[in-house]
Amino acid sequence: NSVQTANDCQAGRLIVLTGPSGVGKGTLVRSLLQRHPQLYLSISATTRSPRTGEIDGEHYYFVSRSDFEKMIAQDQLLEWAEFAGNCYGTPRLPIEQQIAQGKSILLEIELEGARQIRQSFPSALRIFILPPSFAELEKRLRDRRQDPDEAISRRLQRARIEVDAASEFDLQIVNDDFDTALQQLETAIFG
Ligand code: 5GP
Repeated sequence: NSVQTANDCQAGRLIVLTGPSGVGKGTLVRSLLQRHPQLYLSISATTRSPRTGEIDGEHYYFVSRSDFEKMIAQDQLLEWAEFAGNCYGTPRLPIEQQIAQGKSILLEIELEGARQIRQSFPSALRIFILPPSFAELEKRLRDRRQDPDEAISRRLQRARIEVDAASEFDLQIVNDDFDTALQQLETAIFG
C-alpha cells in the first residue's frame, strides 16, 4: 500500500476523529484547523442532500448513489460506510497526495469507517469524542435544527452503538467544556 509506505517514512499521519452525530466534532475540527492551518481536512463524498449553507466541494462532495457506487467499484475510496440511510466515503487520492507531502490529515468519520482505517492504517491516531450524556446529545441534535425528527432518532440510535465502541479507540475525549476538549485534542495530536 503506497500510502502506508509514505506514511512510514514521512511526518504526515492520519488522525481519525469519530463520535456520535451532534457531539460537536465539526466545531472541534474547525477550531483545530483555524489554529493549525498545516493540518489538511479530508473532504468526504456523500449521497446525503446538502443542508442549508453546505457547499459542494467544501463541506462534502455531494454525489448521486450511482456515482458513489462507481467510486467504490473503481477503488477510489479509502473507506466508506452507510450512516442513517446515506453513504459516506473518503476519497483516496487527496489523502495519498497529502501524506506523500508529509502533511497530517484529519478524517472526521463514523465508526465503521474508523474500523476500516484501523485495518488499512494501523498507525493512524484514532480519537473518539464522547458527549457528556445522551440527554445532552439529544438536546444538541434538536437545538441545531439541521435534521428532520426521524433522522434525529436514527442518529440517536446510532449514537448508542458508537459510544459502546469508544474503547476501541486510542483516546476518548468528553466534549463537555469545549475549550478543555480542544486542548485535549491538541495535546493528543501535537504532544
Ligand atoms: P453528517 O450527515 O452529520 O454530515 O454526517 C453523518 C456521519 O457521517 C458523521 O458521523 C460523520 O462523521 C460521518 N462521515 C462523514 N464523512 C464520512 C466519510 O467519509 N466516511 C465515513 N465512514 N463517515 C463519514
